[in-house]
Amino acid sequence: PLLRADGLTVDLPAPGGGEPVRVVDGVTFDVPAGTTVGLIGESGSGKTMTALAVIGLLPERAATGGELAWRGENLLRPGTDWHRVRGHEIAMIFQDPLAALNPSLTIGRQVGEILRRAGRPRAEVRRAVADLLDRVGVPDPVRRMDAYPHELSGGLRQRAMIALALAGSPSLLLADEPTTALDVTVQARILRLLRSIQQEQGLAMLLVSHDLRVVAHVADEAVVMYAGRVAERGPAGATLRRPAHPYTRALVASVPAVRTRTALADPLPGAPATPANRPSGCAFHPRCSLARDRCRIEVPRTREVEPGRWSACHFAEEVIGS
Ligand code: SF4
Repeated sequence: PLLRADGLTVDLPAPGGGEPVRVVDGVTFDVPAGTTVGLIGESGSGKTMTALAVIGLLPERAATGGELAWRGENLLRPGTDWHRVRGHEIAMIFQDPLAALNPSLTIGRQVGEILRRAGRPRAEVRRAVADLLDRVGVPDPVRRMDAYPHELSGGLRQRAMIALALAGSPSLLLADEPTTALDVTVQARILRLLRSIQQEQGLAMLLVSHDLRVVAHVADEAVVMYAGRVAERGPAGATLRRPAHPYTRALVASVPAVRTRTALADPLPGAPATPANRPSGCAFHPRCSLARDRCRIEVPRTREVEPGRWSACHFAEEVIGS
C-alpha cells in the first residue's frame, strides 16, 4: 500500500492536566495506490485526528505511537520532511475552503505558486493554472483565476481548493468532510468530480466523513471508527450492505438513503462514547442491542471475519448473518 497505518495511537494532553487521552487507539488500515478509502465515524471517533496524523498536522503536544508508513517509510519517526510530504506527496482538501485559501491572494496566484514550486517554468504557469481550473470544472477559468476566494460561490471555492491540492501532483488526496459545507446538489457534483479525478489520474484518496452516503458514493474501502478505535473495515459495498459490526449496522440504519431493510431511519441510540470517557470492554456496549456480559469486560480483538473484512466485535459472524 501507499499508506499503511499500523497500530497508530495518538495521545493528547488532558485539559487541565492529568493522564493524556488516547484519542486514536491502535488504528490499522491500508490505502492502496489508486483506491479511495472512506474513514467514517461520528464526532469524537478519532477520524479527524487520524487524518491530521497522516498529514503531520497534529496539535504540538500530541504524542504518537505505532506506525504510519508512506511508501514503506514511517512518517512518525523524528526528522520526517513534512514540507516534502505535504502538498507534493499528500495533499489535503479541507471542509471550509474559505479558511484554507489565502483571502488576500487571487486563486490564480495561489495555484500558480504551487506550480512554480513544483518546477513549472514561469512563462507556462498562467496557462497551466487555467488548464487546472478547467479540469476541476471552474467555468471561464481565465477570468476566474483573477478572482479572490470571497468572490467565488461555495462550490467554485471548493473546486479551486481541489485545483490547489492537485497543483503539487500528489499521490494521495486527503479530503476531510469535503462537501459538508455545501448544499446537496453541489455536494453531488463535487463528489463526482473527486471520483473522476481520482480514477483518471490513478490517485489514492482518504476521504474522512461522518456521512455514510458520501462514503457509499465514492469509496472502494471503508474504515468505520468508534471512540478512537476501528470498529470494522473492508470493501465499502459489503461493509455498508452487510455490516460486520453493530455500530456500522446502526449507522446504516440511521441514514434513509443507504437503508435497505425498512422505509424509515432509526436514529442511533444514546450518545457517542468519547476517548476521554471510553466505556470498559467494547466501547460500543452501552449503545449495542447485542451487548452481553463479555462485551462489558473484554475489549474485542480485531479479527478477519470474511476474506478482506475485519471486525472488532465478539459476535461479528452473528451480525453479518442476521
Ligand atoms: Fe456489541 Fe458486544 Fe459486538 Fe461490542 S462486542 S459491538 S457490545 S456485540
